Parts: sequence; C-alpha cells; structure tokens
Amino acid sequence: LAASLVFSMAACGSDDSGGGGGGGDAAEAAGKVGVILPDTASSARWESADRPLLEAAFEEAGVEADIQNAQGDAQRMATIAEQMITGGVTVLAITNLDSASGAAIQRQAEQQGVQTIDYDRLTLGGESDYYVSFDNTEVGRLQGEGLAQCLGDEPANIAFLNGSPDDNNATLFSEGAHEVLDPMTQYTQVAEQAVPEWDNQQAATIFEQMYTQAGGDIQGVLAANDGLANAVISILGRNNVAGTVPVTGQDATTEGLQNILAGNQCMTVYKPIEAEATALADLAVALVNGESPEVDGEVEDVEGGRTVPAVLLDPVSVFRDNVKQVVDDGFVDAADLCTGE
Ligand code: BGC
Repeated sequence: LAASLVFSMAACGSDDSGGGGGGGDAAEAAGKVGVILPDTASSARWESADRPLLEAAFEEAGVEADIQNAQGDAQRMATIAEQMITGGVTVLAITNLDSASGAAIQRQAEQQGVQTIDYDRLTLGGESDYYVSFDNTEVGRLQGEGLAQCLGDEPANIAFLNGSPDDNNATLFSEGAHEVLDPMTQYTQVAEQAVPEWDNQQAATIFEQMYTQAGGDIQGVLAANDGLANAVISILGRNNVAGTVPVTGQDATTEGLQNILAGNQCMTVYKPIEAEATALADLAVALVNGESPEVDGEVEDVEGGRTVPAVLLDPVSVFRDNVKQVVDDGFVDAADLCTGE
C-alpha cells in the first residue's frame, strides 16, 4: 500500500502521455526488411514493446518492414521466413526460438542473397551478418546484484529459475548472475533449473517443486524475467510468504513493475527497447542501401566458431525507488501501473 502511494504521488497524477510520434516523412528506400519475433507468451515485451517500437523505428527510417510473430512455433517461423524471402525482403531479422531452427533460416536466406540480423538472441552456429541486443551478461549481473541488495548480508538460501535452455541469452543471464552471487558465501544455492521456452506455467510448477523439496527454506529467488518472477510470486503467495522472499525479474513489464510496487518483487531489469528497435532499423537501413553499418563491437558465437559484429546496449536496474524512471521514459503508462491494467 505504502509503495503504491509513493508511486502515485510521484507519477500517477502526472499527465505525461508518452506516445512518441515519429516524424516519419523520410523517403522510402528501395528494399524491404522482414522481422520475425519469437512468441507472445515468454514475455509481454515482444508484442507490447518490440512490435510498436520497431514499427515506429522503421517508419522513421523510411523503410518498409514486414513484422511478424512466430507464436512460439519454429516451423511457423521457417514458413514466415520463406514467404518473406520469396516476397522480396533483402534483409531478414529474427529472434530465434532455438539456435538450430534459426541457423536453418539464416542458411536459406544466405543462399538467396538475403542478409540476416539476429535481433536480441544470438543464433549459435548461425549465419547472421549482425547482432543487435543488450549486454546480456550484464543483465544477469544486475539481477545478481539486485538480489544481493534485497537480501543483504544475512545468510540465505537462494534458488535460480533460469530462462529457456534453447535461448543463448538465458545462458548469459545465468552466467552473469552466478559471476556475482557465487563468491557471496553468505548465500547457499539450494536449487537451479531452466524453464523450457520460458513457459510461465511450467515455471510455477518447477518452482513449487523446488520450494517443497527445500521444505520452504528459500529466502531469495533469482528469476530470469518478469514472467518467471510472477510465477514464483504466485507460489510464494500460496505459501503466505510473497513479499518476504525477494525475487528478481527482467523486462520492466507492467506486471513486473506492479509486483515491485506491491512489494512482491525485488527488482527488474529495464531494457530500453526503443534503442534496440532503433539500432535494428539503422542497421537494416544501411544494409538495404548497400552501406556498411556502424557497430560498436562483436560477440563470439562459440558454437559456430565465428565472431558477429554487434550493437550491444546497456540494461538498467529498476527497484521500487526508480520505477518512475521507466514511466518517465515512456516505456509504460503511469495509468496502467496505477489501475492495475
Ligand atoms: C529476452 C528477454 C525475454 C526472454 C523471454 C530473452 O531472449 O532477452 O527480454 O524476457 O527472452 O522472451
């Protein structure tokens, strides 16, 4: 209650409508870009943030973009990719559902002379020409540091609920979190499991088992995103300990921020998707125009034995006291947080 009061004083009354109008009158460039997002269930971000922000970014850049969602189905992603290639896209960006199916799509694109970009998730063993994402190991470090901040120095048993084993990002998140938490000897790591496809229902089942097996003796949970965090919080709630066991998250979803304001979630990692969408649009436009795009680094694809030129953006920790920052950024609407949309 107190938390939502603090927040409402800070932001609920403000009349700041965040809608970013793109002054998109740029001339249409030749060439078309295809973007395939992964699903709708693993995180609210793909449809609520990425899609509208990508639409705006491509419009602003003056390039035609066909943005679709594979609905969690790798076969469907392959079919959409095929149709896009046949339909004449010259650049194809995907957020893969797993590296093998992503690599198959990229091989096919390459054969047709279509350049490919990995959007958010690196395709291991793939053919992508570029990679756009956040520093995902840093995301994990922020989660580890956040959990430690909420737990403090007292001894505590902690559990890890990682993202999908098919998602290279999930590996990086977990590595980053371990890098921070492993040396903290006041914490005992009592359980760790990956959640297939980031499925929130399975996450609840997995965490319930962890909790039961530990006899309820878990004082902190490293959950890899807000959806998994919400699943954990539902189980903690059933055991009447929601709010006393800190849980981490990621994506600054409306639900995650509400859980933070309600005191049930310790923190989330906010990734300003607008910057990611803009970076993708900039890269794609350069490729469409036959220019070589600007990047700020490279990542290693250990499976493919290659390095991929990359744009990697900085993630931001969000606790109760800086939820307002996400609102001020126009990423979520104050009204949605206040009314509990
Ligand atoms: C993304 C996260 C997202 C997760 C589930 C990851 O690859 O980086 O932002 O929460 O997938 O969709």
